[in-house]
Amino acid sequence: MHTILDTEITYLPGVGPKKAALLNEELGIQTFADLLFHFPYRYIDRSKFYKISELHKDLPYIQVKGKFTHFETSSIGKGRKKLTGYFGDETGIVEIIWFQSTNWIQSSLKKTSEYVIFGKPTSFGNQINIVHPDIEDYNKWQNKLVNALYPQYSSTEKLNQSYLNSKAIQKLVDTLLKKVKGQIYETLPVYLRTQYNLKSLEESLFEIHFPTSVAILNQAQYRIKFEELFYIQLNLIQAKQRRKESSVGFVFDRSNDKLVKECFFRKIPFDLTNAQTRVLQEIRQDLISGKQMNRLLQGDVGSGKTLVALLTALIAIDNGYQACIMAPTEILAQQHYRSISKFLDGLDVNIDLLTGSVKKKARTRIHEQLVSGKLNLLIGTHAVIEDTVVFNNLGMVVIDEQHRFGVEQRAKLWKKNNLPPHIMIMTATPIPRTLAMTLYGDLDVSVIDELPPGRTKIITKHFKDSDRLRVFGFIKKQIALGRQTYVVFPLISESENMDYKDLEDGVEGYSRAFPIPDYQISVLHGRMKPDQKEISMNIFEKGQTDIMIATTVVEVGVDVPNASLMIIESAERFGLSQLHQLRGRVGRGSDQSYCFLMTGEKLSESAYNRILCMVNSTDGFEIAETDLKLRGPGDLEGKQQSGFTFDLKMANLSRDGQLLQYVKDIATEILEKDPELTESENHVLAVQLKEQNKGKIDFSKIS
Ligand code: ADP
Ligand code: MG
Repeated sequence: MHTILDTEITYLPGVGPKKAALLNEELGIQTFADLLFHFPYRYIDRSKFYKISELHKDLPYIQVKGKFTHFETSSIGKGRKKLTGYFGDETGIVEIIWFQSTNWIQSSLKKTSEYVIFGKPTSFGNQINIVHPDIEDYNKWQNKLVNALYPQYSSTEKLNQSYLNSKAIQKLVDTLLKKVKGQIYETLPVYLRTQYNLKSLEESLFEIHFPTSVAILNQAQYRIKFEELFYIQLNLIQAKQRRKESSVGFVFDRSNDKLVKECFFRKIPFDLTNAQTRVLQEIRQDLISGKQMNRLLQGDVGSGKTLVALLTALIAIDNGYQACIMAPTEILAQQHYRSISKFLDGLDVNIDLLTGSVKKKARTRIHEQLVSGKLNLLIGTHAVIEDTVVFNNLGMVVIDEQHRFGVEQRAKLWKKNNLPPHIMIMTATPIPRTLAMTLYGDLDVSVIDELPPGRTKIITKHFKDSDRLRVFGFIKKQIALGRQTYVVFPLISESENMDYKDLEDGVEGYSRAFPIPDYQISVLHGRMKPDQKEISMNIFEKGQTDIMIATTVVEVGVDVPNASLMIIESAERFGLSQLHQLRGRVGRGSDQSYCFLMTGEKLSESAYNRILCMVNSTDGFEIAETDLKLRGPGDLEGKQQSGFTFDLKMANLSRDGQLLQYVKDIATEILEKDPELTESENHVLAVQLKEQNKGKIDFSKIS
C-alpha cells in the first residue's frame, strides 16, 4: 500500500537533496512518515515564566517577561557589532545579546512595550545572559497562547551546522502536516478507537507536534503507545496461534514412563521442588497435546533446570524417540554430560557427547549410532546442528542458555526431522515479565521460581581496590576451612585505554599473595585449548586447587559445590545479568557463600547502582527488573533473537509494562474471534500486520 506518507523527504518544500541526505544520515529520516514519527523528545512549558532572579546557566530553554531598560552597542572587531539589551522584571536584570542584525533589532524594540523572551540562559563571566532569543510582544503572545507547549526535537551537531536545529525541524514538520492534512491513513479500526477512546492517528500526530494542552497531548501520546504495543502483541499472538494450529507434534504418552520412573526413584537423591514438579506437569501437557511444544523454561541459576531437562529427555526416550541437549559452550556441554551420566548410571540409556573437539573416529561412531537409533541421548554444542548430524527419530530438543543461540540456529535444528521435534529452551537469565512477553511472546513460558531447599543466601559485599589485603585475608580463611574460591577478571590481557584489571596481571598478583606450595591456583580462559581447559576445570572440581582464576568462561555451567567465594575483579565492568550469573557459581553447597565485588575507587553513577543492586538482592527476577530500568530495553540480550524486531518511537518497555499487558488482552480477544483477521472491521489490522512484517523471515513458520 502506497500513501503520500511514503514520499521521499527530499520532495518536502524546504528540504532538497542536500538536507534530505543529512536528515537520512543523521536521523534516519527518509520519507514523510519518518519525519512525522520523529517525535519531540520533550516539551517546554511556555505558559510558565521564570523570574529573572531565578535564572542560572544550567537551565534549559526558559521564558521571562519584562521590559528593556536600555541598549548598548559595542564593537567586537572586523566591523562587527554586538548589541546588549538590558531586560528587567521586578526581580532583576538580564543581558540579552545579539551579534547580527543589531541595528534592525534595536530600532524595532520599544522600551515602553512588554516582551516575552524565550531562550537558553548562558553565563559570561559572572553575568547571566541570553543570546539570540525569540522575542515576542507580550500582547501578541497572549493572543496566540494556544501552543503553550513548545516541542524540542533531537538534532545533531552536523544538523545544527546546516541550520537544521530543533526549530528548523519543527518548521519542516509544520509544512509537512499542512501538506498531508486529511490524507493520513488511519491504522486502528474504528471500533477499537471508540471502545478504548483513542484519538485518530492524524489528530494524534498534529497534537504531538503542536500540542494544544497537556491533557490532549497525553491522549495523543497514549494513542501512539497503544498502537505500537498493540501491534507487537497482535503479531506475536497470531504467530503463536498459527504455529499451534499448523504444527503437529509427537504424542508422548505417560503410560510409557519406564526410564523416568527408574531415574526418579533410583537415581535422584532428593525430592523435586514444587516449581520443578509444576514445570514438568506443564511440559507433560504439551507432550500429550498432539501439537509441537515450543516452551521457554526460565529459572535462576541453581534452580535445577538440568534435572528438568533430563526428565524431559527421558520422556521422549521412553516413547521410543531420541533426545538432544544442546549447550552454548564446550565446558557447559561437558558439565551436562558428566552430571547427566551420573543420574543415568546403570540405566538402559545410550548417551554420548558431541562437541567441536571430538576426534574423527569417535565422531563417525556417534554419527552412525544416531542414524541407526542406537544412541538415545546426545549432548553437545553447536556441533550437533551441523548438516552431517542426522538423527533416526529426534523427538525432543533441549537448548540450554538460549540467549547464545540465534534463531536461525534453532531453526536449523527444527529441520532435522519431517515432523519437528518438541523444543524446550532453558535460560538462566531471568527476563522481566514485560520483556518476556514481547521477546518470547511466541513461546509458552514456564518459570522455576524456587531454589532447592537448604541453600543459604549468598552474602555479597563491595570492596574497593584499597581493601585488597582484607579480601586476601578472607580468601585465606576460606581456604583454611577447606573451601575454594573463584576469581573472575573481565579481560585476559591488558588492553589500551581501559582501567580494568586483566587476568594475566591478576594471575601474577594472586600467585604472589598465594604462593606454592601452600596454595594451588588453576587458570581458565577462552584462549586455552579445549583439553587444557578440561584439565584445569577437572583439578578444580576435584579440589586439587584452591583458587580458580578465570574470565567469564566460568559464567555458565561450572558446578563446584565446595566453592564458597566468588571474587569479581573490576566488577564495574560487568552488566547486572552477568554479575548475577557469575555469582551463581557459588552457593551450590551447604556452606555459607560469599560474593565480593571489587571495583576501582571512583565509580560512575550507573556502575554504583549496579553494585548496589547486587549487594541488596539475590533474586534474579528483581535484578532483571532493575537492569531493565537502568539500561532501558534497547540493548538487553536476546533482543535480536526474538525474530521480531520492533522499533518503538513512543512506548517504552520498561515504563509501559501495564499498557503492554492491557493491549495483550485486547489483541487476544480480537484474535480469538477472528484468528485470520478476515472480518471487514479488522481489515486495517491485517493490512498493518502485513506491512510490519514485510521482508521479515517468519521464524514461527520454521519451527
Ligand atoms: P541450573 O538451573 O542453574 O541449571 P542445576 O540444574 O545445575 O541448576 O542445579 C543446581 C544444583 O542443584 C545441582 O547440583 C542439582 O543436582 C541440584 N538440584 C536440582 N534440583 C534439586 C532439588 N529438587 N533438590 C535438591 N537439589 C537439587
Ligand atoms: Mg544449568
